[in-house]
Amino acid sequence: MLSLEQARERILDAVRPLLAETADLNQALGRFTAEPLRSMVDLPPADNSAMDGYAVRSEDLAAARADAAVALRVIGTAPAGVVLGQVVERGTCARVFTGSTLPGGADAVVMQEDVKQNSQDPSSVWFAESAPLWDNVRLRGEDVKAGAQLLEAGERLTAPRLSFLAAAGISAVRAARRPVAGLLATGDELREAGQALEAGAIYESNRIGLAALARQAGAIPKFYPLVRDELAATKAALQQALAECDVVISTGGVSVGEMDWVKAAWSAIGGQIDFWTVAMRPGKPFAFGRWQEKILFGLPGNPVSALVGFLLLARPALLRLQGARQVLPRTVPAVLSEPLANHAGRRHFMRVALDERGGARSAGAQSSHILSAMARADGLVDVPPKTILAAGTLVSVLPWD
Ligand code: AMP
Ligand code: MG
Repeated sequence: MLSLEQARERILDAVRPLLAETADLNQALGRFTAEPLRSMVDLPPADNSAMDGYAVRSEDLAAARADAAVALRVIGTAPAGVVLGQVVERGTCARVFTGSTLPGGADAVVMQEDVKQNSQDPSSVWFAESAPLWDNVRLRGEDVKAGAQLLEAGERLTAPRLSFLAAAGISAVRAARRPVAGLLATGDELREAGQALEAGAIYESNRIGLAALARQAGAIPKFYPLVRDELAATKAALQQALAECDVVISTGGVSVGEMDWVKAAWSAIGGQIDFWTVAMRPGKPFAFGRWQEKILFGLPGNPVSALVGFLLLARPALLRLQGARQVLPRTVPAVLSEPLANHAGRRHFMRVALDERGGARSAGAQSSHILSAMARADGLVDVPPKTILAAGTLVSVLPWD
């Protein structure tokens, strides 16, 4: 049986990024750059003021003190967006505001709070302190030089990165297409919300949770109708999803029972099953299949197993399809506030709840059908076989989102 790491490697080796397309920045949140991006301009594009105040020549105020204030004549006003025509020459200054281009000749800005106006003569102002060279000035190119790399290929477009690109004059990026992930739920016992629950039936709950996780991972989820536990029905459903999606994600029907049709159906429509068990709990039955460039994730039916299997194995693949450089989840460090015990002989991804002070505790019963504990959990802790992690142990929590 493959370890989780081996399984993940096999999956990632099989996945190539989808073709890139041009995306407007406003449509690019959460997507991944397909190529490095360079700045069109210096940032800031020009020396400019960091304050509302007066642009001065530092040299003119070298001797300014509280008991020896220096007056400078105001030659004009430069609102943000206006470049003053005049040059600040010896003995003069210019009125500026935050973001105003620094007038020629000036090499420092004194904030207006530190300046005394002369009510008799508004054409000059008084300075009672010296101004260090380039004080309150944002220098041209100090943040980014024109032509410099802004982002590497494969970086996630977060809100601050989108603003960063916009500031550098970029309005659209090349990014891999978002993968369409088809969601299938197999099981004769499954019913849609709103249907009556006759004896033996349960409400189907995997597609919605997986759709949410898929969306968080940048994919476009597509729901398919419930699939009966029959070879023909399973084949037809897989075939349709295969034709319409980049990735097919099914739940249920991947164990060894005679009602478990997913693997057989996938093979029958010409797909390959690469592996179908992973040494972990929950989520041991996990079929990874391929059909040309398309992928099948055959997740187990238990809702906890399905979501955990997705998080650990399908999510990295969806990110790789989008060209992400980093496909493994970022974990959150936490300290166990009570022991966490795995008595089983298999590695267990246990559901834990986090508190505000960085503590983690078991979210409740850890069986893979206990949905209340799954719902209470903020994430998972990887507990090795036959291991009791003591209270106080520093753990890495793999968050749901
Ligand atoms: P299976 O993997 O098909 O053997 O199903 C394992 C367990 O998960 C059974 O108790 C199923 O009833 C349950 N199950 C399977 N699919 C779903 C689903 N889509 N929603 C909720 N429970 C499910
Ligand atoms: Mg089933």
